[in-house]
Amino acid sequence: MNGTPQGPTATAVAAPGRAWPVVTERHQTGPTGPLAQYSADYRAAFAAAPLALAVVDREGLVVGANDALAELLGADPADLTGRIGADLVDLASDARTWHAYREVLRGRQAKLRCTRRIKHPDGHSLWTQITVSPLPGGERRGAGTALIAAADISARRDLQARLRHLQMHDPVTRLPNRALFFERLTSALEAGAYDDTSTGRIGLCYLDLDGFKAVNDTLGHRVGDRLLAAVADRLTALADEAGYGSASVPLVARLGGDEFALLVEDSTGTDQLTELAETALRTLQEPFDLSGQRLSVSASIGVVERRAAGTTTTGLMQAADTTLYWAKTDGKARWTLFDPERNAHRMTRQALASSLRPAVERDEFVLDYQPLVGLEGGGVSGVEALVRWQHPQFGLLTPNRFIGLAEEDGSIVQLGRWVLRTACRQARRWQLDHPDREPLFVSVNVAVRQVWDSDLVADVADILAETGLAPELLQLELTESAVMGSAGRPLQALQALSDMGVRIAIDDFGTGYSNLAYLSRLPVSVLKLDGSFVRGFQYDEGAYDEAAAHINPADEVIVEALVQLAHRLGLTVTAECVETSGQAERLRKIGCDTGQGWLYSRPVAADRISVLIESSDG
Ligand code: C2E
Ligand code: MG
Ligand code: MG
Repeated sequence: MNGTPQGPTATAVAAPGRAWPVVTERHQTGPTGPLAQYSADYRAAFAAAPLALAVVDREGLVVGANDALAELLGADPADLTGRIGADLVDLASDARTWHAYREVLRGRQAKLRCTRRIKHPDGHSLWTQITVSPLPGGERRGAGTALIAAADISARRDLQARLRHLQMHDPVTRLPNRALFFERLTSALEAGAYDDTSTGRIGLCYLDLDGFKAVNDTLGHRVGDRLLAAVADRLTALADEAGYGSASVPLVARLGGDEFALLVEDSTGTDQLTELAETALRTLQEPFDLSGQRLSVSASIGVVERRAAGTTTTGLMQAADTTLYWAKTDGKARWTLFDPERNAHRMTRQALASSLRPAVERDEFVLDYQPLVGLEGGGVSGVEALVRWQHPQFGLLTPNRFIGLAEEDGSIVQLGRWVLRTACRQARRWQLDHPDREPLFVSVNVAVRQVWDSDLVADVADILAETGLAPELLQLELTESAVMGSAGRPLQALQALSDMGVRIAIDDFGTGYSNLAYLSRLPVSVLKLDGSFVRGFQYDEGAYDEAAAHINPADEVIVEALVQLAHRLGLTVTAECVETSGQAERLRKIGCDTGQGWLYSRPVAADRISVLIESSDG
């Protein structure tokens, strides 16, 4: 049907902006004009059709237009004939539509449909849906080639716009809602990342009212809603003022509940955002007068400001959420700026917590051993086993980073069992490798949860049997708080272990209750004095001098009394964190039995302990 036009006529379509063509005879309507080919009935139907219509020839010139189109365009129907069809309904303003239109005229494309905004001469503009379809038989020169139909869809568009506004705004505060906020944030991030003319940065104040729930609960939701609306008004005024004279006004949105956001596109740096947050706090400080109710509220604000490139909506919102949480936990009624280091710490904690359990199965832990040295004779009598995590991502981690987490999620039970087995096996190995030497005992740290959540007694018995280590060569370190007030299960466990021949030591003594009288009634045989005591002995290494020995006399007096008391109660005393020979000397004089610390050795791998044993052999 639609043969491809050939020759010069194929390019003869009127170009946009071209001057009106001279109306020639062939453009006239009437029985002798091009539309004469159609019957009178059809012409009448065309003229009276409620849909705005125009017939154009293959050059794109209007051959005939009906009354509906004339009315739509605010023109006389007769004046439309001979005009450029594309200009009437704005088909030439964008290249793609223009191309598609020409393809229809040339018979290469079946149809074109698009939406166009048309300006009426009386000043108002209307939205139209334009359809251009080819007319059969239009190949003949001078005949109508295509039919342009224009439907007024302004009412529908208007309704759609109003619906969208409803969907995108919060009815209580009339602010943009979460959906619109995220839409704006997404496009702001895209624009910021690719637009050279902008600062390429973005900022967000994430605000949450303090104690809003109480307002709702005590004064009712109506007052709560009014308060939210009043807060919204103040924030909007503040944003308008902040944006005055600058390129963009911060977007104020209600993200839900009592949460608001101030989004600064194209921000200039953290200062701009913290200033905005500061002003927001000040603005909200003024009491609210809600139809007779005077209400004071404060708010907490998380502030994030960063480069748009590489920032995702989720990343930004997570950062804002974390920062708001910090503002709350730091005491509320304040703004807090996002701190990557604080965040990394939180992330690592999370990452560690989630990879802890599988790590035990994957065998990612190692033990170091630190010598326990007799203060009188200077010989190594035992070692403390100290666990380390060889983390595939974060490297070698000390126990302070993960023991707490392992206690929280219970994986300490499994980990503790592994530590116990590995330490006992190693102690037995040293004993077998050095049969002529007094065997070293191994001291293993035990967490409270191991006593409560696992059968520690059975585990110890099994491991001793399995490794062949004598119970006397095993010492278990528990903290004071773990054994304090222990009755029932923990006490029975301690008793059973002690009966087995295993020694119980109280670790970090002095940091907790320090109730010696109570401890002496438990099956405990060793006190490990916390490092903070020894740190009070501030002597220069090798420069012990009785006269200068009063730098921190209180500590010394206390330690001396402690040691005497412990001895009287049948306990031996080990001092932790012995770093200088001065400290060691003082401790020896006081009567302390054993020392542990960097003076003797840092915690080291098992083979280094073997070397140490060999050097002291014979
Ligand atoms: P802790 O049992 O009091 O262990 C002594 C800590 O003091 C060790 O830290 C050790 O490296 C450190 N230290 C030793 N000598 C000195 C010194 O001269 N100066 C100073 N400043 N520090 C010294 P580490 O290895 O980081 O262990 C920390 C804590 O982790 C341990 O304190 C213990 O409570 C816990 N822990 C270690 N291994 C285990 C384990 O296998 N199970 C359990 N439940 N806890 C463990
Ligand atoms: Mg310990
Ligand atoms: Mg300790």
